[in-house]
Amino acid sequence: MATIPERISFSGARIWNTCRYQWRLSYVDRCEDRIVATGLLYGKVLHVALAAGYLAIMGNGSALDVRACALDALAIAWDENDLPWSEDYEGACEIIERQFRDDVVRAHQENGDVLAVEQYLVGTVSGMTTDGVLRSAEVSCVIDLVLARTGSSSVEIRDHKLGAPRSAGGNRQLALYGDVWDAHHPDLLTERVSLSFPTGGELDVRQLEDGWRNEARTWILTARDEIENTAEIGDWPPNPSPFNCSRCDYRHRCPAAVSAHLERADID
Ligand code: SF4
Repeated sequence: MATIPERISFSGARIWNTCRYQWRLSYVDRCEDRIVATGLLYGKVLHVALAAGYLAIMGNGSALDVRACALDALAIAWDENDLPWSEDYEGACEIIERQFRDDVVRAHQENGDVLAVEQYLVGTVSGMTTDGVLRSAEVSCVIDLVLARTGSSSVEIRDHKLGAPRSAGGNRQLALYGDVWDAHHPDLLTERVSLSFPTGGELDVRQLEDGWRNEARTWILTARDEIENTAEIGDWPPNPSPFNCSRCDYRHRCPAAVSAHLERADID
């Protein structure tokens, strides 16, 4: 009998809502032969480098140290992930240089605002499903960055995106991260959320509103409810589309995969 995961993540719910065939391969069969698209690997190594730089800021390194640390992490992650060096390594270095230039590092240090980096958390989220069922679920997440200004009793949760700039408003991922963070830090609640786009340097910061949180809870709790009530059947057909398949690590296993190229502008 198929065993479903104890927890749900934002990406698990997203895949459940786009292609259940992929969801089964990933979360039930737990197939280990994933083949990650080069574009997604590019995003992964940039996240590693960004995390290294923000951790160095937390450690109060000089701007020079912070940049060097992030660039070292970038080179190591690039190599470990077998990314071709022709795949815009220079561009990735420029992104890191810009992200950790002197004035940016100084501003972060003066505000005392880097509180957590790549923070893995699991928390209980409660609310209504779209069918009006009251329920709760364990939600796991990895938060890219948590910022808190000196003397403030609230935080800003930030996610790095490598795609085209867009508003953080209504973003379910950020709202759920806020919920999970708040479950662990009742004295340091989430007030603001933001999306940063290191590729172009854009940043969008928003107040996290209750209605927005509720919508995100309903979305993930509905997915969890559906998974618990139908996962044992598990005979879902593929749901191919250029968008879905470009992000799928199991295209080689799927009889319905459509050819799709992941553009840098699409990387989440
Ligand atoms: S290749 Fe496309 S249709 Fe097939 S499992 Fe992946 S997302 Fe679904």
